[in-house]
Amino acid sequence: MKDKEEKEKIKLILDRGGVKKHIFLPSNIEIWSVVGEEGDYLVNDNPLFCTCKDFYYLCLIKKRKKMCYHLKALLLAKKKGKYTVYHFTDEEIGLFSKLVFNSLK
Ligand SMILES: [Zn+2]
Repeated sequence: MKDKEEKEKIKLILDRGGVKKHIFLPSNIEIWSVVGEEGDYLVNDNPLFCTCKDFYYLCLIKKRKKMCYHLKALLLAKKKGKYTVYHFTDEEIGLFSKLVFNSLK
């Protein structure tokens, strides 16, 4: 992907509130997700991790780059405070995970 194309994609994600922070209470567990072109992906910035194919092939296997555009969007959104926050209870973690893993198929 070209740099300019990638920047546009990232901007679009941020503009439509595609970076989401899910907070589970009372444990305060934070789970972040990014809505990309192909669906929702779970992302994590420390250590860097994303559930998309690009991250798997290009970052983990071929080590051609460190981050996919979902991770770049996450970092930028955090820096700018441009993300949506959703609150859940700890009891909902199971249901949340179910939804997420179904959307990953
Ligand atoms: Zn990704």
